[in-house]
Amino acid sequence: MTTFSEDSNSTALKIAASEARFRALVNATTDVVYSVTADWKVMHELDGRGFLKDADEPTGDWMTDNIHPDDMERVKAAIAEAIKEKKIFQLEHRVLRADRTPGWTFSRAVPILDDQGEITEWFGTASDITEQKKAEQALKDARAQAEQQKRVYETITSNTPDLMYVFSLDYKFTYVNSALLTMWGKTWDTAVGKGLRENGYEEWHALMHEREIDKVAATKQPIRGEVSFPHAILGRRVYDYILTPIINEQGEVEAVAGTTRDVTERKSWEDSLANSAEELQAINEEMASTNEELAASNEELIATNEELASVNQELIIAHHKIEEGQVAYRLAVNAANFGTWHIHSITREFITDARLKELFGYYPEEPLSIEQAIAQITEEYRGYVSSKLENAIYNNGDYDVTYPVIGLHDNKLRWLRAIGNLKVDPSGAFSAFTGVVQDITEQKQDEIRKNDFIGMVSHELKTPLTSMKGYIQILLSKLRKQEDEFILGALQKANGQISKMTSMINGFLNISRLESGKIHIEHQIFDLALLIKESEEESLATISSHTIIYDQVETTFVDADRDKIGQVIHNLISNAVKYSPQGSIINIACIIDNGTAKITVKDHGMGIKPEDIDKIFDRYYRVDGDHMFSISGFGIGLYLCAEIIKRHHGQVWVESEFGKGSTFGFSLPLSAN
Ligand code: ADP
Repeated sequence: MTTFSEDSNSTALKIAASEARFRALVNATTDVVYSVTADWKVMHELDGRGFLKDADEPTGDWMTDNIHPDDMERVKAAIAEAIKEKKIFQLEHRVLRADRTPGWTFSRAVPILDDQGEITEWFGTASDITEQKKAEQALKDARAQAEQQKRVYETITSNTPDLMYVFSLDYKFTYVNSALLTMWGKTWDTAVGKGLRENGYEEWHALMHEREIDKVAATKQPIRGEVSFPHAILGRRVYDYILTPIINEQGEVEAVAGTTRDVTERKSWEDSLANSAEELQAINEEMASTNEELAASNEELIATNEELASVNQELIIAHHKIEEGQVAYRLAVNAANFGTWHIHSITREFITDARLKELFGYYPEEPLSIEQAIAQITEEYRGYVSSKLENAIYNNGDYDVTYPVIGLHDNKLRWLRAIGNLKVDPSGAFSAFTGVVQDITEQKQDEIRKNDFIGMVSHELKTPLTSMKGYIQILLSKLRKQEDEFILGALQKANGQISKMTSMINGFLNISRLESGKIHIEHQIFDLALLIKESEEESLATISSHTIIYDQVETTFVDADRDKIGQVIHNLISNAVKYSPQGSIINIACIIDNGTAKITVKDHGMGIKPEDIDKIFDRYYRVDGDHMFSISGFGIGLYLCAEIIKRHHGQVWVESEFGKGSTFGFSLPLSAN
């Protein structure tokens, strides 16, 4: 029994020890320790912490007292389930704590089974997890809020074309928006958590941003920059970016957020804007200068207007004067009995007055054409006049012609002088050729009479002169054998004077022949070199007052009147001697130039003033001056020369410097053979 008692003793001891340990555990734990009946109706709080209303007594109201009404069903269901399955009851649920405030508990109860396996009671603990639950809830709320915020941001960032991203301080992307992913051609998973290089940034670019991240972290200040790099789809673009520090509650930089905007278009707009601004500036300046110009032209316009007004005034006065002039002209025309005409260069319309018609032997009312008028000119002159007329109308040649006309109806011979003037119409389309015709028959007849008289007198004078010259020459040849120097000298001088007189009379004879159209050119082919040689010999024999130098002349054949050309050369040399000082040099030359022979006589004499040069070849023209009295002449030598050369289709000219000397020249066409 001892054993039994020892056994029962030791068992009691063991139970007591176990009880004590249990109690210690119950005291040590912060949890509420409880037991409930098998049906969970009555609960007994074992730790006396006052969780239940009456901590010391088992209570049947614990459920309504302590379970939160909202969790009641859940708790009951869990209990029913645990009873049914005889398994551990375990549930987090809400409770009403002793002070009636709601709390959370984690309750766990183990079923105690008897030998038959029936539940005798439940033994459990309930730990207050209110704080934990609160924290969990707060976390959940925070998460939900963060999620929601993320969704908002996602919506914003995924719908913007801007690139948005967040860097951790070790340069990893912790966030990238969809625009950036599109740009990279990557997905979130392959891009986030990676560094710059892994996301395809070139080394320089990665380094640049890493330095910037460091700077933002260090300064806590945002950075703004511009960079250009190739986009996966769009090619090289320009980007404007801002890196901003993300600062945590401790005031430290936790990450760096960035936004990058594609400003390529803006840039190009800016550039073109700048360009347009420049252009605008230029246009403005141009406009300003145009304005100034406008103002200036305005002033000019005003001035021009004023000028116009005064010109208008002058025009009115001029108009009056013209009218007066016209009246005077009419009077003059009438007084001089001029006929007038007008020719249109294109239509060849020929407008004449009655007097002109009369001069051509037409009746006043009869029509008269140019051709009809020309037909009345004597045959001898017709070709000459019509070529002069054509040349005047179409080549603006001079028109001052004298010609004889036989009147159509009256058959009267009239000498007419016609003078015309060509005026180009302001339109430039045609010219008007106007002129007057004067009846110079009487003058002409006087002249003819005078010429005839001169011719007759010259002819009559020549006969005794020729015989005188003959006698003197006989005397000379006879006296040469004698020694009387004086008589010889006097006879030689007389002979010289007779030669001079003969040549003067010849001149007059020539003039009268020329005027009456009786001068004839007798053509022959001869060598000018020989003619000039003869002239040289003659000069040597007769001229001792001057040194006459003859240049070498090549054989030069011309088809001309040998005597008359000899006369021209003789005349020019005589003039050179007459109008240059004794002892001076006279040069004679003959060259071939441009299909013509050119003969020149150059002296170092008094020369001719420019105003006289044009008139020097006119009939009876002599230059005024002291020499008029000392040097004899009639002003017919050069006129004769010019007329002779003209009839050979050659040219005469003079080049002269007053006081220094003159060079007279003429040209002749070379012989064709
Ligand atoms: P003249 O009989 O008066 O010499 P010309 O017809 O031969 O008549 O010459 C006309 C005018 O030309 C002369 O009066 C003279 O004034 C001028 N003249 C002619 N030849 C020369 C010359 N070689 N040097 C200067 N004047 C000249």
